[in-house]
Amino acid sequence: MAVMPSIKSREVKIVQDIPISKTLQFWEALKQGKILATKCRKCGKLYFPPAADCSNCLASDMEWVELSSEATIETFTHVVVRPTTFQQEKPYTVAIGKLKEGVRVLAWLTGFKLSEVKVGMKAKLVAKLTPEGRPTYEFTRPE
Ligand SMILES: [Zn+2]
Repeated sequence: MAVMPSIKSREVKIVQDIPISKTLQFWEALKQGKILATKCRKCGKLYFPPAADCSNCLASDMEWVELSSEATIETFTHVVVRPTTFQQEKPYTVAIGKLKEGVRVLAWLTGFKLSEVKVGMKAKLVAKLTPEGRPTYEFTRPE
């Protein structure tokens, strides 16, 4: 491919304020070690990440429910070439796990050697704070 003439811009660091009024309870619960989903009061469909409206029956009558931590890993990928914003991180593993409630969660998978990670294995979904103090969640080794 031909290289287009170009000059490099300054490196831009973007920090956005993400509106969380509809999901505030989710972030507050994470700080307390709980992972919440929303459940439609009308049809019972469970949403993770939490949703304010039900795409199944179009109702907007949701309740917050706490998820179990029991997950089965359905797929995973080991990320060696990290995106710019993750350059400071060591290579990491991202997985999709299915919780026993039936919802799928995309999260980092930690606490395993790469050779131990298998589709179908059990993992535990835990809430945690990043070193910068941001609430998040990840899969880790069950006790
Ligand atoms: Zn519904």
